[in-house]
Amino acid sequence: MALNVKLWGVRGSLPTPLKPQVIEERIRQTLSSFKESGKDIETFVKGLSHQNYGGFGGNTACIDVKSDNHHLIIDAGSGIRQLGAELLAGPCGKGQGTIDLLFTHFHWDHLVGLPFFIPIFIPGNTINVYSVQPDVETVFRHVFQKPYFPVPYDRLGAKINYHALKPRESKMFGDIQVTPYQLDHPDPCWGYKIENSGKTFSYCVDTECTRASRIDLGPDLPLYQDVDLMIFDAQYTFSEAMEKIDWGHASAPVGLDIAMREGIKKVIFIHHDPAASDEKIANAEKQTRDYYNACLKEGQRNNLAIKEVEWEFGHEGMEIKL
Ligand SMILES: [Zn+2]
Ligand SMILES: [Zn+2]
Repeated sequence: MALNVKLWGVRGSLPTPLKPQVIEERIRQTLSSFKESGKDIETFVKGLSHQNYGGFGGNTACIDVKSDNHHLIIDAGSGIRQLGAELLAGPCGKGQGTIDLLFTHFHWDHLVGLPFFIPIFIPGNTINVYSVQPDVETVFRHVFQKPYFPVPYDRLGAKINYHALKPRESKMFGDIQVTPYQLDHPDPCWGYKIENSGKTFSYCVDTECTRASRIDLGPDLPLYQDVDLMIFDAQYTFSEAMEKIDWGHASAPVGLDIAMREGIKKVIFIHHDPAASDEKIANAEKQTRDYYNACLKEGQRNNLAIKEVEWEFGHEGMEIKL
C-alpha cells in the first residue's frame, strides 16, 4: 500500500446530524423491505447501502492519510473528535504520541472539532500544526478561551508547535511528500498534493474552482496533474453553484471536467451542503452520472480522447487505498 485515505468528516459548513423524523422514516422503509425480502437479518443488513442507515454523514471536514510509516491529519472539523478517540488506543493515549495536523484554512467547519480532540489535552503528546497561513497560534488561542471554551490555551497538556508551509513548495513528512497549492475560496485556502511510492492524491476542499482552465490555474495547475485520486468540493448541485457565485464552493461537474481533461483516475466528491438531505445528495450524484455519460457520448461522437474517470460521492467513514 502506498497511501490510505479515510474520510472522518464530509459535510460542509456546519455539522448536520440526521433528524429524528428521517431516522423514523428510514426504519419504517427498511423494516417493510425486510419483510418483503425473505432474507435472514444478517444477509439483509449486509446488502443495505450506506444511505439506508447512516447516509452520507454529518461531521465536518477532517481526513487522515496513512503511508506505511507516517500519518497525517488534514483539518479539524467535527470529524476529528472520533479520530482522536481512536488514536487514544496508540501512543497518544499514553502521552507519547506525535501528530502532524495540516490545515487548509480556518473556517469554523475545519476547526470546530479541535476542542474535542482528546490527544491535545494529554501531557507528553506533541501536535505539529502546519499551514500556509501565518500566525496560527493566535487562531488556536482564540478557540481555547472563555467564553467559547472552558479550558484555556495555556492549560492544554500537549506541546503544540507551529510550522509555516511555503506555497507550492514540497515538504517531506516521513515518506509522504506534501505540496500546498492555492484553491479558490473567499479566505485563502490551500489544497494539498500528497505523494508516496509513486501514488498521488490531491485534496481540493474548499474551492469554487473559478480558475478551471489550464491558463487560469497557472502555478496551481500541478495540483490537478498526474493524480491518482482527487477529493473535490461538491457542496452544490450544478444549478445552485451557478446562483452562489463567490460563495467559495463548487459542484461535481466542475471537478469532473478537470478530471477528464487532466486524466485524474478517481474522484471522490465531498463537503456536502448542510441543507442537503441524503436524498438530495444522492440525486445530485445521479445528475452528475447523467452529465458524465453525456460527456462520454459527446466525446465518442466527435472522436475526442475523453479520459474515463472512476468517481462517486463520498460518505463518512469511507476509506480509499492507493
Ligand atoms: Zn469548509
Ligand atoms: Zn471554507
